[in-house]
Amino acid sequence: MNPVLLVLLALAVVGLLWTTGVLTTLLGVGGPRNVIWVDGRLTLVPAGSTDGQRLLPAVPVTTAGAYAFEHTGADGRPVGYDPCVPIRYVTRPVGAPPEADRLIADAVASIQAATGLSFESLGTTDEPLVEDRAPIQPRYGSAWAPVLFAWSDADASPELAGDVVGVGGSEVVPAPHGDRSFLAAGRVLLDAPDLETILGRPGGYARARVVVMHELAHVVGLDHVDDPTELMAPRTGAVTGLGPGDREGLALIGQIPCADS
Ligand SMILES: [Zn+2]
Repeated sequence: MNPVLLVLLALAVVGLLWTTGVLTTLLGVGGPRNVIWVDGRLTLVPAGSTDGQRLLPAVPVTTAGAYAFEHTGADGRPVGYDPCVPIRYVTRPVGAPPEADRLIADAVASIQAATGLSFESLGTTDEPLVEDRAPIQPRYGSAWAPVLFAWSDADASPELAGDVVGVGGSEVVPAPHGDRSFLAAGRVLLDAPDLETILGRPGGYARARVVVMHELAHVVGLDHVDDPTELMAPRTGAVTGLGPGDREGLALIGQIPCADS
């Protein structure tokens, strides 16, 4: 092709990208926006907060005990949710026991208080349960998919087979800019028949709440520890709330620096 034509064509493409806002998005403040593959499509990583301010104060570490992080960054700090952006969550009411809303609200309040991360309910969802949940979904716009609280059973969800009462976790995703990683698009899947059995026992509500707290602690980045006095023991056993190590780990998860917008 004629070199003059080539230059003109290149200028036209840059001009088009500029006027449509694509170029300014890609070269926004903080450098080029990171992209990820979602459902076979290259997708812009959702932006963080615009003012870089935490939503809630960081929680100081005042206890010591056993804790472990699911993921750790190159700086040795835990990989967690951006403290400058609310952790949005939705609940899927299909198959839920009557106590579901209270259980979830109680667990969210406990983990919010222990981490200094701000949770925000987006209400209910009819999102289908799939094994490989997309971290960005058109039903939730261009943001990360909210944390999903859902109820199922061992027949519909093989990961709840045996004596597994619930599972919880999040995706490790890139920051909007740069090379840091964060958590997003978490999920808590609860075994409704197992939880209903627990709820039917004396003191069952407290036991069920501990299960939901344990799974939500996985969502924000805590891993299991081999200490039966902590909530993050693989089996919650006789634990009725957060232990000293759980509190230390959750406070540290909530203290990580925010992502740039
Ligand atoms: Zn667990």
